[in-house]
Amino acid sequence: MDIPSLTIDAVREGLLARRFSAADLAAEALRFAEAENPRTAAYLHFSPERALATARRVDQRIAGGEEPGPLAGVPMAVKDVIVTQGVRTTCGSKLLAEYIPPYDATAVERLEEAGAVLIGKTNCDEFAMGSSNENSAFGPVRNPLAPDRVPGGSSGGSAAAVAQGTAVFALGSDTGGSIRQPASFCGVVGVTPTYGRVSRYGLTAFASSLDHIGPFARSVKDAATVLRVMAGRDLRDSTSAEAPVPDYSALLDGKVKGLKLGLPREYLKELTSETGALIHAAVDVYRSLGCEVREISLPATEYAIACYYIIATAEASSNLARYDGVRYTFRSKQGETLSDMYRNTRGEGFGAECKRRIMLGTYVLSAGYYDAYYLKAQKVRALIARDFARAFQEVDAIVAPVSPFPAFRLGEKVDDPIAMYLSDIYTITGSLAGIPCMSVPCGITAGGLPVGMQLLTGHFAETTMFRLADAFERTRI
Ligand code: GLN
Repeated sequence: MDIPSLTIDAVREGLLARRFSAADLAAEALRFAEAENPRTAAYLHFSPERALATARRVDQRIAGGEEPGPLAGVPMAVKDVIVTQGVRTTCGSKLLAEYIPPYDATAVERLEEAGAVLIGKTNCDEFAMGSSNENSAFGPVRNPLAPDRVPGGSSGGSAAAVAQGTAVFALGSDTGGSIRQPASFCGVVGVTPTYGRVSRYGLTAFASSLDHIGPFARSVKDAATVLRVMAGRDLRDSTSAEAPVPDYSALLDGKVKGLKLGLPREYLKELTSETGALIHAAVDVYRSLGCEVREISLPATEYAIACYYIIATAEASSNLARYDGVRYTFRSKQGETLSDMYRNTRGEGFGAECKRRIMLGTYVLSAGYYDAYYLKAQKVRALIARDFARAFQEVDAIVAPVSPFPAFRLGEKVDDPIAMYLSDIYTITGSLAGIPCMSVPCGITAGGLPVGMQLLTGHFAETTMFRLADAFERTRI
C-alpha cells in the first residue's frame, strides 16, 4: 500500500473492491506515520485505539452492505488545538500538556461519522499563535521538503503531515493565515472557509471572531470533499451559518471561461521576487483558460497587520484567561496564596509569544486606550471588509500571493516578532473580512521551495474558489 499517493477516491475504491480493509489501512497508516515522525515532528501523539475502532466500524458497514460514508477509511490528522474525546489535546502548550478532552469538536465528529480515521494530533504553535511552528512548547516542526526550514504556522504539523503523505487530509485552524501560509510553504492545498461555514465548537479559542477550522489536502477535490462533510449549521456554535452546503467536488469540471479575476494592486506592487513571478505566471494560465483579468484596489490593506494584531490580541487576552491553574491541567507548585498560584501558573505555563499577546491585548482593551486602539481597529476592520465587498461587485474572485517569501530557515525570524508578523501580510485581510480563501500550489522556486497562490471569493462562494483552484491544478498534472 503506497500511503503517500492515496486520495479519498483511491481509498474508497480499494475498500469497495476489497483490496484492503479499513483496519489494514489504519494499521499501515499508523506504522508509516510513526516511522516518518522523527524527521519532521509533525505529530505530537498518535491515537491507535481510536483509529482502529473507527476502521473496524467502517469494515462492519461494508461487510453489512451499508454505505460506509464519503470518507470511509481515510486517514486524517487533526491539529492539536481541536479537541478530541479521550485523545490528548495540548494546543502546543505546557498548560495543557496532559489535557484529555471529554468531548469531540463538531468537525471531528462529522468527519468520523463519515468514516474518516483519526491517526493522530499534529504539532502547532502554542494556542495557534505564530507563523513558523517554532512557538510550540514541544519543539518545532521541520518542513518535509526542506528539513532545515519551517513548515509555516501555526498549523505546521498538519501541513507537514499531508505533504509527507502520512495523512490523506488534515484539519488546521486559521485566524490570520495559519492554514494558507503553511499550505503554501509545504506545497499542499489549504482552505480557510467563510467564517461560520464550519462550526467552531471544540476549536480552542484564540480570537473567536477570526477563528476558522479548515482542511489541508494534496488535491483540491479532496479538500472540497472534506469541507462539505464538516460544514453546515451546528446548534452548539451560534456563529455557524445556516447557508446550504453545495456538493463542491461534484461541481469541479475544469471550466472557468468567462470568470472575472481581480489582481489587487496593493499586494503585487512590491512583490518583485520569485514568488511574484510565479503568481503572474499562474495568472497567465487563467488568461489562457478564458478568464478575464483586471487590476483592482483594496486601499485599506496597509492597515491590516496593525488592525489584526490589535483585534486578535484583544480577543486572545480574554480567551486565555481561562488557563488559571484551577481548570485544566497545569498548576504551578510555587507560592503560598491563591494569587501566587494564578500568577505562577500563567508565568510558568505560557510561552513568550502568548505572554506578549496577552499583554498587548490587555493593554489595547484597557480603559484609557480602548477607543484609541481597539475601537479604531474595529473601524478599520469594517473598511477592509468593505474593500472586498466592493471588489466582488466587479470580479468573481481575487488572485493574490499567500506569503511574500517561501519557507524560511528555522530560527531565522524567531528573535524578530515584527518580521514574523509580516509573514501574514497577504492572508490577514481575508481573515478580517471573513471571506473564503485558499492556497493552491502554483510553482517551485529555483531553490526547490513550493509557492502557493491565494484565491479569495465573496462570502459563501467557496464553489467558485474551488472551481478556479481545480482548473489550475488540472493544468499542472
Ligand atoms: N500567524 C498569525 C498569528 O500569529 C496567524 C495565526 C493563525 O492564523 N492562527 O496570529
